[in-house]
Amino acid sequence: MNIVCCIKQVPDTATVIKIDPEEKHIQREGITYIVSPYDEFAVEEALQIKEKLGDTTVTVVTMGPERAKEALRQCFAMGADEGYHLVDDAFDDSDTYATATTLAAAIKKIDFDLIICGKHAVDGDTSQVGAQVAELLDIPQVSMIMKEEINDDKKTAVVNRQLEGGEEVLEVQLPSLWTCQKGLNEPRYPTLKGIMGTKKKPITDFTVSDLGLSPEEVGLLGSKTDVSKMYPPPPRLPGRIVEGEPEEAVKELAKLLREEAKVI
Ligand SMILES: Cc1cc2nc3c(=O)[nH]c(=O)nc-3n(C[C@H](O)[C@H](O)[C@H](O)COP(=O)(O)OP(=O)(O)OC[C@H]3O[C@@H](n4cnc5c(N)ncnc54)[C@H](O)[C@@H]3O)c2cc1C
Repeated sequence: MNIVCCIKQVPDTATVIKIDPEEKHIQREGITYIVSPYDEFAVEEALQIKEKLGDTTVTVVTMGPERAKEALRQCFAMGADEGYHLVDDAFDDSDTYATATTLAAAIKKIDFDLIICGKHAVDGDTSQVGAQVAELLDIPQVSMIMKEEINDDKKTAVVNRQLEGGEEVLEVQLPSLWTCQKGLNEPRYPTLKGIMGTKKKPITDFTVSDLGLSPEEVGLLGSKTDVSKMYPPPPRLPGRIVEGEPEEAVKELAKLLREEAKVI
């Protein structure tokens, strides 16, 4: 089987993010980057399928600037076999549709039986890219999977997806695209051997012309949405303690909630 995992390099969740209001995106200097945690679930699941079925290639694909190669290498250290880096200035300022267009064009050039994505990227947070890639490739998609089992025919799979207070079990055809929910697996730590081997694994770069796309179809020009404003949430006001005997304090609290906070 050939399994493609879409992985995104994102700011470390422990990083304090500052927004550049002029450029309408985050300030990127001095930030530590990681593979989006939900994409690690995708790579781990692909590796578990490979261990179970054998004769499987795990390919990681990312769109991002030059530094995103590091994310591909982190996946190599976990055990992924090869990588594709979609890297071109023309891809800058992509919205989710332009991102999905670029990823789908790249995946069309790779032989695949299954695509696994994260449920969402922990920075952009839209949960749109996986579904859009599936639509552009005209394949079925199952979101938020919690468990999967590829059938012996390798043409279908049984997939559990999370619902509010339960799980849904579906049979799905391959090729299809799945997005991973937390709890699907526990991503492995890279081994020393894995880290040592990362330099030998191939990374193929794809530019806009390699993908057979025009600059108008990608990046800002190919985007259907435009960020008009980006700003941090207002700072939280300090809490207030209502002093006094409980009976009086409760009355005062109710008054404040009704007249000042206007929530009751
Ligand atoms: C006008 C505009 C300008 C923007 N400018 C920039 C910019 O300059 N730089 C920038 O970094 N972002 C920019 N963004 C944000 C960018 O659109 C999103 O980060 C991107 O489209 C992915 O969306 P998401 O993070 O919400 O992914 P989600 O839909 O939440 O991700 C779901 C899954 O899709 C896959 N995926 C998502 N993105 C990628 C990727 N790049 N490569 C591989 N797999 C991926 C992963 O498997 C991920 O788990 C801009 C957005 C807009 C609207």
